[in-house]
Amino acid sequence: MASESTARWDLILVGGGLQNGLIALATLAARPDAKVLLIEKADALGGNHTWSFHLESIPPEARAWFEPLIEHRWPRYAVKFPDLSRTLEHAYATCSSERFAAIVATRMGGAPNAELRLGVEVVEVGPSGVRTGGGEVIEGRLVVDARGPRERATSDSGYQKFVGLEVELEAPIDDQVALLMDATVPQRDAIAGQPSAGAFRFVYVLPFSPTRALVEDTYFANDATLDIAGVRARVMAYLGDRGMRVVRVLREEHGVLPMPWRAAGPVSRKNPLVAGYRGGWFHPATGYSVPVALRLACFIAARAPEDVFGAEFDRLADGHEKEARFGHLLNELLFTATEPAQRWKVFRHFYELPDDVTLRFYGMELTAADKRKMFLRRPPPGVNFLKAMRILPSWGLR
Ligand SMILES: Cc1cc2nc3c(=O)[nH]c(=O)nc-3n(C[C@H](O)[C@H](O)[C@H](O)COP(=O)(O)OP(=O)(O)OC[C@H]3O[C@@H](n4cnc5c(N)ncnc54)[C@H](O)[C@@H]3O)c2cc1C
Repeated sequence: MASESTARWDLILVGGGLQNGLIALATLAARPDAKVLLIEKADALGGNHTWSFHLESIPPEARAWFEPLIEHRWPRYAVKFPDLSRTLEHAYATCSSERFAAIVATRMGGAPNAELRLGVEVVEVGPSGVRTGGGEVIEGRLVVDARGPRERATSDSGYQKFVGLEVELEAPIDDQVALLMDATVPQRDAIAGQPSAGAFRFVYVLPFSPTRALVEDTYFANDATLDIAGVRARVMAYLGDRGMRVVRVLREEHGVLPMPWRAAGPVSRKNPLVAGYRGGWFHPATGYSVPVALRLACFIAARAPEDVFGAEFDRLADGHEKEARFGHLLNELLFTATEPAQRWKVFRHFYELPDDVTLRFYGMELTAADKRKMFLRRPPPGVNFLKAMRILPSWGLR
């Protein structure tokens, strides 16, 4: 990084998405006068997401500052499979990008030494600072690179693909239960012109009010192709088949998230810290990252920039990598040893486990006993036994 330095910051956060927004909030909650610079290339923070999470995955030390991000919450949630319906008495919640952007911007704007720069692209990231597309060099004590998922082409990954429509409904529905997984829908992929292509498919319904809901059609598939128009039509058909008449579509989101069975590389343990999705701080078997992004944010906020790395960080990173490896194993079994039409059975099996195991699974906090319960005594129903037996030894698990 060249010399003409214009500022010196405690933290330079590159990318204004979920990970760095949480780091900014956690840091300013711990040290309101911290010198935090958040740089985002887009004109707004947070992209176009609805982030969902289990309320129990919010660590106690984060609850006060995290609370304003919670836009909708449900006291319970349900899952449905062809031969099993369950309601879990655990609270579930969401935060929209708009809410996230407003809260982070307000918090940054109210902090005496924090600055938010929107519409600024960072082109170079180093241990002592960054360079922007405009050629400005900015120096900082800790640089966090959370620029979101890298483009990656790999054969060692399945994909989570979805199209979600936020709709206004004519007649009221029960808005006290979030439907996390309705896997009673036909099990097929979302590739135009390939009606026989298979995938694990489920619909996700988050009622934001009696007449407003986010309805997302999701596919766990080996192919990354997503026929957005076709899936949009399937969402409308799902609602129509259930007698839910749509008055209008308010918003749409879609995504294709990798579900890898090999890590892109080890977790970064030095400055600049590669964090968020880019740094592997996400759940490989769900694509979700709120719990782990929060864990990392709280860790950084509790320390001076120079004290972030060391034995404690190694413990955090080791724990995360261990949990991620288990997620990779699940992905390998799901995408290489389970016929697409049978995949729903794997998830049905998980939802037959005690609720606390399910919660720890989403939070990447499984115990060794949980893992035994989930998988290791025998592969779950639907997984091809012989293929699983070839995969498990390579993970040192049999
Ligand atoms: C549509 C969608 C829905 C999702 N829903 C959930 C969910 O319900 N629950 C959940 O836990 N996870 C969800 N995820 C997965 C995961 O939580 C998100 O991908 C999450 O946003 C990752 O956070 P991040 O901060 O690593 O990256 P991002 O949130 O993607 O943020 C990266 C930011 O960096 C910016 N940037 C990129 N390059 C530069 C640059 N050169 N200079 C400056 N800025 C740059 C980008 O514009 C972006 O704003 C979802 C993902 C998608 C795509």
